[in-house]
Amino acid sequence: MEILRGFKDILPTDIKKWHKLEEIARNTLESFGYKEIRTPLLEKTRLFARGVGEDTDIVEKEMYTFLDKSNESVTLRPEGTAGVVRAYIDNHLENLPYKKYYYIGAMFRYERPQKGRLRQFHQIGVEVFGIDNPSIDAEIVHLDKTMLEKLKIGDLRIEINNIGCDRCRPEYIKKLQEYFTQHKDKLCEDCKRRLNKNPLRILDCKNKGCKTVAKDAPKITDYACDNCKNHFNNVKKKLQSLNIEFIENPYLVRGLDYYTKFVFEIITDKLGAQGTVSAGGRYDGLIEQLGGKATPGIGFASGCERLIELMDEEKELLFDYYIANLSEDDYALDIASKLINLTNKRIYVEYEKRSLKSMMKKADRMGTRFVVIVGENEKNKNSVLVKDMKNSTQNEYDLKIFLDNEVKRWL
Ligand code: ATP
Ligand code: MG
Repeated sequence: MEILRGFKDILPTDIKKWHKLEEIARNTLESFGYKEIRTPLLEKTRLFARGVGEDTDIVEKEMYTFLDKSNESVTLRPEGTAGVVRAYIDNHLENLPYKKYYYIGAMFRYERPQKGRLRQFHQIGVEVFGIDNPSIDAEIVHLDKTMLEKLKIGDLRIEINNIGCDRCRPEYIKKLQEYFTQHKDKLCEDCKRRLNKNPLRILDCKNKGCKTVAKDAPKITDYACDNCKNHFNNVKKKLQSLNIEFIENPYLVRGLDYYTKFVFEIITDKLGAQGTVSAGGRYDGLIEQLGGKATPGIGFASGCERLIELMDEEKELLFDYYIANLSEDDYALDIASKLINLTNKRIYVEYEKRSLKSMMKKADRMGTRFVVIVGENEKNKNSVLVKDMKNSTQNEYDLKIFLDNEVKRWL
């Protein structure tokens, strides 16, 4: 039986890296005062149609949508924001004194699988509600950047843009539409459709022809209203005072409809076409759109698989002791149970009878700190032969001395 296309098992060999990612992310998020929220993987389809936007790629073609047994249309969440906003409204979280949340979890999009692009993937994201102040825009970029630094991911650039609001964007969209209509013959089929429905999305198209045309497209900066301009200028000032370097990209847009004013991406050149590791921005209209009181909002999400790809490959040890049990099961078990009781470490007892040589090979492949060799000889002498895999040294010890040493080692 094969796994679904675009889905991936995370195996024990990789899990340490995931734990490390989650731990560092959680610590950073908590230290910035963000609180975790967990929402369901499955929601009513309407939530995403309304929240993400009918004309987006996600809603048009990427959602896992089906009828449940009572004929209700449900969808596996393609992103985290809509669910968190729903939970905020449903649970009256506006009554809580804090408004900064984060989530870590799986998302589902029916996309063409490629390196860094899966159908089930994971995101670490944050959402903040009720804060207009441009300082919060700078705070989430600062938080994102700090998290990436703590993960020791380098060579990143931060791109920012102002994408306006309901008041100024329609005028800009009209100008974009006029511009792209003049170059319609050079656009891909998708973008020809986007031209009427959602011309902003053409700026985000990965097709070469579309990219070339987009290079000379009108810029939102020439159309933004004073309110959006002021907000954006203030965010830039705050970023500068935090010593955060950024590049203004007047063509940066997001794939979801709900963004307003400030948007940003953090990008690497190390992952080929899938170079965006984090993306986010402000969504001042979304909460009202989903039935709540008019409340400003802002957030970002980072793709875990892309972060994992960029994290250093340090070979993690999976075990502390591998008991190379050559023949004496009872003696090996006795040593293992004493070691577990005394040290609380990860101990793997071998029961597949093989030669010492092949056991040593296996121990090396498994990734263990020590190999404890136990055979007839050792049993008779009440001793153990211990190989330290880190220093490649090997010594024989009386069992009691060995156990005493090991207890001290981990103190
Ligand atoms: P892209 O332009 O790469 O499709 P997006 O605009 O659809 O990204 P967002 O919805 O903003 O991405 O999601 C935030 C982050 O989640 C992305 O920057 C990326 O790191 C990650 N991500 C998005 N889709 C996928 C996917 N299919 N597989 C793996 N990671 C993904
Ligand atoms: Mg996408």
